[in-house]
Amino acid sequence: MKTVQIGGPLGAYLPDASLDTPMDYEALAAQGNVLGHGGLVVFDDTVDMAEQARYAMEFCALESCGKCTPCRIGSTRGMEVIRRLQDHPEEALAHSQLLRDLCQTLLDGSLCAMGGMTPYPVLSALNHFPEDFHLHSADTLAA
Ligand code: SF4
Repeated sequence: MKTVQIGGPLGAYLPDASLDTPMDYEALAAQGNVLGHGGLVVFDDTVDMAEQARYAMEFCALESCGKCTPCRIGSTRGMEVIRRLQDHPEEALAHSQLLRDLCQTLLDGSLCAMGGMTPYPVLSALNHFPEDFHLHSADTLAA
């Protein structure tokens, strides 16, 4: 088992070290996660977390109502930057920083939880599984 996603497609991915977290609002919120609707999806060690992050952006792009720019445009830009990161490992750090900036814009500027929660799976994948983004732990700590 590699990770567990809690709360649905826009929930965060928990790493090994957090798997004993109680399933309640407060404990998950203390880690920057959400309980959401309480769904659990367990992924084995074949999962590619960069692909999961890209899927979260794709889900947002498909489900976006289009009312606000961070969600409507940001989700599509998010898919693109993750794909560039996957295709150009030598530029991974620059692309990951752009992805973090984009996630911050979604967090700060989205009008509802659709755009506002999309960064949860993206950033948790990036923070806990940097190797799937062609990054080292030090890159994540420095971000
Ligand atoms: S964040 Fe909500 S209101 Fe804004 S475009 Fe996305 S779904 Fe629509």
